[in-house]
Amino acid sequence: MQRVPITLRGPYLEGVLGPMGPELEQAARAGIVDAGGGLAGIAERLGRYASGMELDWYPSGQMFVRGAVQTGDGPSRAVTFLAELQPSWALGTRTGQPGWLIEASVEVDCQHSPDHGSMHTVFESNASASMVEEAVAALAEAVHQLDRLANEPIATWADRGGD
Ligand SMILES: [Zn+2]
Repeated sequence: MQRVPITLRGPYLEGVLGPMGPELEQAARAGIVDAGGGLAGIAERLGRYASGMELDWYPSGQMFVRGAVQTGDGPSRAVTFLAELQPSWALGTRTGQPGWLIEASVEVDCQHSPDHGSMHTVFESNASASMVEEAVAALAEAVHQLDRLANEPIATWADRGGD
């Protein structure tokens, strides 16, 4: 997997968002950068650092816009707040039409014994969009949702890894 931060200067976002004219491209990029700023705000409140939104791409050709805030309240008690925007073909069905899936999720370290050796998704919220503007707005909403969720005590989130 390759990962590059999304800034006002780059990288090209057409791999995820499809062909765009200059105005739409600038607006979409600004919206994604803002959503990354929202993640950075959550991280700051939690005394952490978040890199903002990033473009992830794989040798398979799949591409994603993703951002995360990684926190936790102790060893093996990691809590990650994630926002993701993906073209609907990336993990879903080829419809032949432009479409996107937007997800907000919370992943936490397993607290079971024996340990499952992976993180558990303890919250997931999905939205879909058929226009770029809608997709970017849904990503912003996903970050707002994470912002609200991150107001709950981190220990409470970490404990859910044992549910
Ligand atoms: Zn487990």
